[in-house]
Amino acid sequence: MPRKKVLIIHTGGTLGMKMPGHTRAELAPNIELDRLINRVPELEEIADIELISPWNIDSSQVSPNDWQALAKLISEKGCLGQKDDRGNPKTYAGIVIIHGTDTMAYTASALAFMLQNPDRPIVLTGSQRPLEAWRSDARANLAAAVECATMDVKEVMVVFGDSILRGCRSTKADANSYSAFLSPEASPLGEIGTDLEIVWRRVRNPTMEFGFYPKLEHRVLNLTLFPGFNPKILKQNVENTDDKELIRALIIRGFGVGNIPLQGDLSIFPLIEYLRKKHIPVIMTSQCFRGHTELALYPSGRQLLDQGVIEARDMTFESVITKTMWALAHPEMGLQEWFNIDLAGEMTSY
Ligand code: ASP
Repeated sequence: MPRKKVLIIHTGGTLGMKMPGHTRAELAPNIELDRLINRVPELEEIADIELISPWNIDSSQVSPNDWQALAKLISEKGCLGQKDDRGNPKTYAGIVIIHGTDTMAYTASALAFMLQNPDRPIVLTGSQRPLEAWRSDARANLAAAVECATMDVKEVMVVFGDSILRGCRSTKADANSYSAFLSPEASPLGEIGTDLEIVWRRVRNPTMEFGFYPKLEHRVLNLTLFPGFNPKILKQNVENTDDKELIRALIIRGFGVGNIPLQGDLSIFPLIEYLRKKHIPVIMTSQCFRGHTELALYPSGRQLLDQGVIEARDMTFESVITKTMWALAHPEMGLQEWFNIDLAGEMTSY
C-alpha cells in the first residue's frame, strides 16, 4: 500500500522554536524545516510528508487576516473539494497545521467556519515545549496529528496530548500542562493512548459539498462583565467613534446562564438598548467554563431577549468570536438566524 500524502503547514509557535541552553527562559522563532522532520523520523513512516512554512510567528500575533490567508492556502494548495481519478481526495489525504497553542482554538474555530464540510482531515497541533527540548511533547503531538490526517475524519480538529477534539469546540485550558486543550461542552472525537482511537459516532459526516467562505468582519468587541463594571465608559466610547471604526457586534460574557446587572447606575441595560437602536447586535455568552446560556430563565435574561439579544448557548468563547466575525460578513442571513444554525458542529442543537 503506498503511503498517504500529508501536507504539513508550519505556521509557528513553540513547537519549532529554538531553546538556547535548553532552558525555557528565552524562546525564539526558528525555521529549520529539515531539522523538524529529522527530529520526528516516524513521520515519514506514517505518511508521505510535504512540509511548507508560509510564515513563522508566535500565535499571540495571529490576526483574522492570517486566518483568511491560511484558509486560502489550505483550500488551494490542499486541493480541498477536489478528487483524484479514483474519487479520493486529490493529492493529500489530510492537512496538518503546526500552530502556536495560545490562539490555536481561535484559528481552529475560524477555519471551521471558513472551510465548511471539508472532504478530508484538517488537524491543528503544536506543543508546550519546543521539539528540540528534552521531554518535549512536540514529537508525540506531531506524530499523532499526522496519523489523524491519514484517517477518514472530515473535520477541523485539534490534536494535542491525549485528545482529539473538534476544533470549534476546543479551548486552551492549561498554560503549562501537556494536556492543554479541552472541549468543555462536547465529548472528544477520540483519544490518544497506547492506541489512537476515533469515536466514529461523534465524528461529523457532512453530506453537503465543501464550501470555501473566507470573508470575515473584524470589528467585533468583547465585554467580560464583573461586579462594578461601569457601562457608561463603553457607551461613551461607542458614541464618540466614527462609523468606520464602530463595532459591528458586541459579545458580552455575562454571569452564569447569561445574567447581567440591571439595577441602578451600573445597569448594562441602557448600553444594550443604545446598541440595539443603532442596529448593533449583542450576543450573550457566559464566563462559566461549562454549561450553556439560558436567557429565558431569569428576569434579566428575559429583558435581554425582548431587546433581541442573541444567545450563544454552549459554544466556546473562541467559536462565538469567530462565528460572529464570519456571520457578520455573510449578511444574506441575519446574525440571529446564523446563530440558530449549527454550521460546523460548534453547538449542541437543543
Ligand atoms: N506563545 C506560543 C504561541 O502560541 C505558545 C505555544 O506555542 O505553546 O505561539
